[in-house]
Amino acid sequence: MSWIENRFEEGLMMTSLDWALNWARASSVWPMTFGLACCAIEMMAVGASRFDIDRFGAGAFRATPRQSDLMIVAGTVTYKMASRLKRLYNQMPDPKYVMAMGACTIGGGPYFKHGYHVVKGVDLVVPVDIYIPGCPPRPEALLEGLMRLQDKIRHESRAIDRVAQSNQQQLANV
Ligand code: SF4
Repeated sequence: MSWIENRFEEGLMMTSLDWALNWARASSVWPMTFGLACCAIEMMAVGASRFDIDRFGAGAFRATPRQSDLMIVAGTVTYKMASRLKRLYNQMPDPKYVMAMGACTIGGGPYFKHGYHVVKGVDLVVPVDIYIPGCPPRPEALLEGLMRLQDKIRHESRAIDRVAQSNQQQLANV
């Protein structure tokens, strides 16, 4: 590759690859079919014709965590459900994202004081990327959260991370 060395600014190739990868990933977020309580009704509305989440490339709700890269936690997370939720999250391939939808999911909501059975924030169970407040949040709020997630994905650097990881592995093997 000597013919190409020093011809471009440092990092130009990696930046371009990142842009293409991130564009593809941000335009094809696949959420998992997964709802816990009343907030899930708003999530379902987002998939219907009036709000049409397909416009954002995120309408392919998957019935298995192994084909999903987005978990929308929509509804009250009980302690009984928390271990199942964690298991589903662990079964999703990397890179994966979590959106906490609604007051219950974010911090216990109306059950915060007396709901002995409710987890006071799903971020105690899985890492959360986007918080969507409301009880319930409107479908437009969920779409806004999705756009913020797409912004986040666009600014990630998977290619550079991969090169750094492989360099580290090579160093470890030496
Ligand atoms: S935040 Fe409100 S609408 Fe959503 S699950 Fe809790 S009680 Fe239901």
